[in-house]
Amino acid sequence: MGDIAVVGGGVIGLTCALRLAAEGHRVEVVTASPPEDTVSAVAGGLWFPYRAAPADAVLRWGQVSLRHFAELARDPATGVTWRSGVVLHRTPDPDLSWTAAVPDHRPADHLPDGVHSGVVCTLPVASMPTYLPWLAERCAAAGVSFRRQEIHRLDSLRQDTVVVAAGLRSGSLLDDDTLVPVRGQVVRVANPGLTRWLVDDDNPAGMAYLIPRGDHVVCGGTADEGATDLTPSPEVERGILDRVRALVPELRDAPVVSRAVGLRPVRPVVRVDRVERGGKAVVSCYGHGGSGVTLSWGCAADVVRLVGL
Ligand SMILES: Cc1cc2nc3c(=O)[nH]c(=O)nc-3n(C[C@H](O)[C@H](O)[C@H](O)COP(=O)(O)OP(=O)(O)OC[C@H]3O[C@@H](n4cnc5c(N)ncnc54)[C@H](O)[C@@H]3O)c2cc1C
Repeated sequence: MGDIAVVGGGVIGLTCALRLAAEGHRVEVVTASPPEDTVSAVAGGLWFPYRAAPADAVLRWGQVSLRHFAELARDPATGVTWRSGVVLHRTPDPDLSWTAAVPDHRPADHLPDGVHSGVVCTLPVASMPTYLPWLAERCAAAGVSFRRQEIHRLDSLRQDTVVVAAGLRSGSLLDDDTLVPVRGQVVRVANPGLTRWLVDDDNPAGMAYLIPRGDHVVCGGTADEGATDLTPSPEVERGILDRVRALVPELRDAPVVSRAVGLRPVRPVVRVDRVERGGKAVVSCYGHGGSGVTLSWGCAADVVRLVGL
């Protein structure tokens, strides 16, 4: 079993590290920032494919992850729960390819004005403030070591096998200029007692979703391609709150508890491959767009296979 460096400590790097350690590899996670400062910490944590391609691989990775999250949801310490909710569609021919991965889904019968159709289903929700530290703790328990350092060149790493899971910044390590940031802003409000999530991406007033996660509800959102400002905009936040309150009036008086911005690492296709470079085996796992949580366990399984080639 080999000596492996995983560059990146977001949901992708941690999941890959955990899977590799479980296979008996000696793994070091080298990360520029702690889990709470990653894009992964901003994620709503809902299993749902968004801004990730290609469709067939996304479905396959998503299915593997869904099965794994089902196991994790048995243990409250993971922060993963199964929650019922609805995906609203405002066009007559929505992309329903994702439903092939979801065992029990049915048409929604109560629809807000202007909504053409909806899919009701039960999906995993990972509460990231619990899930990311749980992943890191599981890694440590499996023998993974951690080093806080920004890597500028892969040949500075001592290991002969390197997994690049550095999200949006992976491209600069591999001369890949196809990654694009897609800015997402969220506002978290105190949970007035909601359990059901809701996704309304085609809302004419702007993308809208809400994901209850125990004591708070993650409300979104935005998807601004190429924008990189990490400061939450009060005006954008007002728009998000107006949209989600129009959909779920129970949120009207819920106080804001926190706010955040993250840059989704969008690529024409998610990169999961292996190349030989400067005498090292370099396995890439990045470009998961708005689906990093959703695809994490499926992609990590492919990384384990590629490392073993
Ligand atoms: C508002 C918003 C909501 C979202 N909601 C969901 C959702 O509900 N479900 C879902 O599946 N996905 C969601 N996503 C998408 C998800 O957050 C991302 O796809 C995912 O976080 C990508 O994970 P990652 O580990 O690749 O990147 P990151 O979380 O960005 O982690 C990258 C890691 O690499 C490290 N790093 C970078 N460069 C270097 C370097 N040179 N040297 C060392 N370390 C380095 C960083 O420090 C960090 O630890 C959402 C995203 C946003 C912005």
